[in-house]
Amino acid sequence: MNHRNAYLLAIDQGTTSSRSLIFNELGQIVSMAQKPFRQFYPEPGWVEHDPMEIWETQLSCVHSAIAQAGLQHHQIQAMGITNQRETFLLWERASGRPVHRAIVWQDRRSSALCQQWREQGQESMIQELTGLLLDPYFSGTKLAWVLKDKPELRRRAVKGELCFGTMDSWLIWQLTDKAEHVIDRSNASRTLMMNLSTGQWDQAMLELLDIPEAVLPRIIDSVLAPDELSPSILGIPITGIAGDQQAALFGQAAISPGMAKNTYGTGCFMLMQVGSRIRRSHHRLLSTCAWSHNTSDGRMTMDYALEGSVFVAGAALQWLRDELGLIKHAQESEALAASVNDTGGCYLVPAFTGLGAPHWDAEARGVISGITRGTNRAHLVRAALESIAFQSAEVLLAMNADAAEPLRELRVDGGASANNWLMQFQADILGVGVDRPKILESTALGVAQLAGLGCGVFDSVQSCTTMRQSERLFMPKMSRDEAESKMSAWLSAVDRSKSTR
Ligand code: ADP
Repeated sequence: MNHRNAYLLAIDQGTTSSRSLIFNELGQIVSMAQKPFRQFYPEPGWVEHDPMEIWETQLSCVHSAIAQAGLQHHQIQAMGITNQRETFLLWERASGRPVHRAIVWQDRRSSALCQQWREQGQESMIQELTGLLLDPYFSGTKLAWVLKDKPELRRRAVKGELCFGTMDSWLIWQLTDKAEHVIDRSNASRTLMMNLSTGQWDQAMLELLDIPEAVLPRIIDSVLAPDELSPSILGIPITGIAGDQQAALFGQAAISPGMAKNTYGTGCFMLMQVGSRIRRSHHRLLSTCAWSHNTSDGRMTMDYALEGSVFVAGAALQWLRDELGLIKHAQESEALAASVNDTGGCYLVPAFTGLGAPHWDAEARGVISGITRGTNRAHLVRAALESIAFQSAEVLLAMNADAAEPLRELRVDGGASANNWLMQFQADILGVGVDRPKILESTALGVAQLAGLGCGVFDSVQSCTTMRQSERLFMPKMSRDEAESKMSAWLSAVDRSKSTR
C-alpha cells in the first residue's frame, strides 16, 4: 500500500544537463526542470565539467521544479539522487573547494596507465575483484592518474585533507552542508576500487592503483532511512541514491533475475538483473552492483546486474542525417524502413569507434556490405535501424549465456525507443517481447522509487514496481529460422568490419 498525496523529488545529474523532477505516489510526473552545463575539452580525449556549475544548476532546477509543482519543501517526503556514474572530482575537506574540474566518464587520460597494468597481467585479478575491466572509463584509473600527475595532491590526500567523490557524493556533500562524505554502493561499484563481493573498498585494488584510503568516502546503501544521513539544507531527507543506469533498471521494475532494460540513445545501455549472487561474465561484459539495502535484521544485501553497451546506436541515424544527408530527422527513419520489405541484403555495421561487447575490437571500422545497383535510401536507413537491433541482440545474447536465468522480456526507454518499427524488429530478432512503458523517464522514476522505499512512502519493492505501466508490448512475429538467418548474415558483415580477419 502506498501513502496518499506523497511527493518525491528526483535529482537527475546527467552528462550534459542537470534535471529535477517531482513525482507523486502513483509514479506520475508532477513537474520537471532542466539546465544544461558546459563541457570542457582541454586536450584531445579529455572531458571535464565544472563541479560548482553542476551544483548550482542542479540546485536551481530543484527550486524551479518545486515552485512549478506549487509545493512547499515540507510537502515533499524525500529525495533521491541519480547521476552520471564514473565522473568524479577531488575537493578540500576543510573549505569544500574543488581542487580540479570534474573528470568525466568519457575522458581517456588514463589509457597509458591501463595499458601498463594490462601488460603486467593485472586484468584478470581486477575482473575477479571488481567485476569490471581495465579501462579509463572507470574512475579509479583516472584518480590514480591525478595523484601521479600532482604529487602535492597526493600528499594532501594521504593526510586526509582531500575528498574523492562521484557526482552523488559531491551533491550530498553540498546538500548536507559538508556534513556527509559518502557514496552509494551502485556508484562505488563503478570506481574499480570496490570489492564486488563485500561491497567495501578493496585493499588490493587500492594498493594496485596506489590510492590512499583517507581520500575515499564511506560506502552507503542505495535505500536509506530518513535519519541515516545528516539533514539536508532543503529540509527534505535524502533516502535514495543510484547510478543512472541502475536507477533506470529499477524504474523499469526489473527486479527479478532475467529481467533486462535497454536504453536506446546515442548509444545503447543494457543491464540485466541477475539477483543476489554475482554472475561473472565470460564475454567481457561487466558485473556490477544494481543497488543495495538493509534487511529488517540489519544485514546489507546487494542485487547484481550484468551490463553491456553499444557505442553507436541512435548515432548511426545522426550520421545518415548529418554526414550523408539521407534524412532530415531521425523520426523519418520509421516510415522509410517500413516502405521496403527488406534491405535487399544490405548491412550497415556502424563500428565508427571500434566494436564493443562481445567482439572488443578497438581498431574495427564501419562497413556497408551487400550493396547492389538497386540499393536505395530506404534500404540504407532500414539497415541503420536494423544495426541498432542486431548490436543490442548480440549483447543480450551474451548476457543470456552468462546469466542463470534467460532473458524473459526486454524493457525499453531512451529517444530511439519511440521508433515502433525498430522495437518490432528488436522483438523479432530476440524472440522475446519488447515492452515500452508509459513513462520513459525510467532513471528519475527509479531513484524516486528508491527514495520512496527509504522514507516509507512505499512499503515494499513490489509496491513500487506495480506503478510501472506498459504503453505498448511488441511481440515477436518473425519465425526463429528467419531471425537466425538474419542474425548470421549480420555476423558475417561484422566480420568484415574487424581489424583482424
Ligand atoms: P542521449 O540521451 O544519448 O542524448 P536520447 O535518449 O535523447 O539520447 O536519444 C537520441 C538519439 O535517438 C539520437 O541519436 C537520435 O538519432 C535517436 N532517435 C531519436 N528518435 C528516433 C527515432 N524515432 N528513430 C530512431 N532513432 C531516433
